[in-house]
Amino acid sequence: MTLSANNPNRKTWLKTAKDTDFPIQNIPFGVFLTPDDIITVGSRIGDYAIDLSALHQLGYFKGIALPDDVFLQDSLNDFISLGRKRWRQIRNRIAEIFDEENQELKNQENHQEKILFSIKEIEMQMPVVVGDYTDFYSSKEHAENVGKMFRGAENALLPNWLHMPVAYHGRSSSIIPGGIPVRRPQGQKMLKGKENPIFGPSENVDFELEMAFITTDANVMGESISVEEAEEHIFGMVIFNDWSARDLQRWEYVPLGPFLAKNFASSISPWVVTLDALEPFRTTGPTPEKEQLEYLKSSGKKTFDINLEVRLTPKNGEENLIVESNFKYLYWNMSQQLAHHSITGCPIRSGDMMGSGTISGKEKNSFGSMLELTWNGENPIILKDNSTRKFIKDYDTISMHAFCENKEVKIGFGELKTQLLPVLEKSK
Ligand code: MN
Repeated sequence: MTLSANNPNRKTWLKTAKDTDFPIQNIPFGVFLTPDDIITVGSRIGDYAIDLSALHQLGYFKGIALPDDVFLQDSLNDFISLGRKRWRQIRNRIAEIFDEENQELKNQENHQEKILFSIKEIEMQMPVVVGDYTDFYSSKEHAENVGKMFRGAENALLPNWLHMPVAYHGRSSSIIPGGIPVRRPQGQKMLKGKENPIFGPSENVDFELEMAFITTDANVMGESISVEEAEEHIFGMVIFNDWSARDLQRWEYVPLGPFLAKNFASSISPWVVTLDALEPFRTTGPTPEKEQLEYLKSSGKKTFDINLEVRLTPKNGEENLIVESNFKYLYWNMSQQLAHHSITGCPIRSGDMMGSGTISGKEKNSFGSMLELTWNGENPIILKDNSTRKFIKDYDTISMHAFCENKEVKIGFGELKTQLLPVLEKSK
C-alpha cells in the first residue's frame, strides 16, 4: 500500500507552526482525555489533537473495515491488533481529511467542534496497555562505558555482546507518560570500603536516553519472527527515559541483572510515531564486527536517523543541553531485537514495549546517561547557573527530544519532560 500520508508536498488547512514536530506528514497515534473527560484514541497535527472516535462516529472512515468502538478505548491495543494494513489506511485517510484541498471537514464547523481540540485543553494518557516490557542493551558505546566503570577496561564488553542483542525482562506497571513527576527511590546500597549494605535514598538517580518500539500480536507461542518480517509487527516508536538508580544497581545486579534499580519508573513520550512516518529517514547501522548467526543477519536500511537531545533544568533555572546523540548509533537494530526476542517461540503481543537500551555515541556529549557523562561522578557537569551535577538532584527536570529532519520534512516525537521529586515520606 502506498504511504500517501508521507507526501512531503501536502499542506494542511489547520494552522501549524513551521517547525512543529507534528506536521501533516507525521500523524502519530495516542490516547487522551477531552475537556469533557471522555477518553479517546487520537492523533495530532501541529497543536491540534484529533479525536478519532468522533471522526469515526461522524462517518469519516467509511469504507475502511473498523470495529465501531475501536477508537473509543483507553489504549491503542485493539487498533494496533488490526494490523499494518489498517494502520496505513487510517493514517492515509487522516492525511486526506486534513489536506488543504479537501473540503469535507474544512467546511463543517459543527463537526470540527467535536473532532478538534487544542493540545493545551487535553490530557495525554498512556498510549498502550503494556503487557510486557523488555529492555535491550544495544548500544556498543554504552555497554563498553558501563563495563569499564563496573568491571574494568579488560572486561568491558562481555563475550556474548557481539553475538546477540542482550536484554532483560523489565517491569511494565511503572511505565508512565511524560509530565508525571517521578519520586527518588530508596534501597540497599553498598558503600565503598564497607562490609555491609545500608538502606536509604538513592544518591545516584540517573536518566537513560532510549527509544522504545511498540509491537502488535506477531506470532503464536512456539513460532519465531524472522529479521525480514519483523518490521511488519512494529507499530511505532516513543522516546523512553529509563530512570535508573546506579548505587542500587551496582550492588544488586549480580548475577541476574537489573531489578529494583530500574523498576521505579520509566517515562515515555505519549504520541506513538509510526514506523511508516519514519520511512524517509531509513539508514544503515554500524557494520557488524563479528560474523552473526544466521537468524540475526540483517541487510539493508533497517534503522532510522533520529536526532536525540537531552536537557537538564534545575528548579526555577535555565535549560542546559547536555546530550546530542542519534538513534542510528545502535549496534543492534529493532528487527534483530525482535527476531532474537522471539527465537525461542516467546509470544509477542499488541502493546508490548521494547526499549533500545541507553543510546550512546562515540563523542563525550553523545553519552546517554549521567553515569557516562560524568564518568560515575568523577567529572561533574557544570550548569549555566554554575551548580554542578554528578547525578540528578531533587526538583531537576529532564527533557528528552527526538526528531528526524531532511530538506522536505521534519518528523518529531515532541518533548518528554519529567521532574524528579524527593523520596515520598510515609504519612504517619
Ligand atoms: Mn535501560
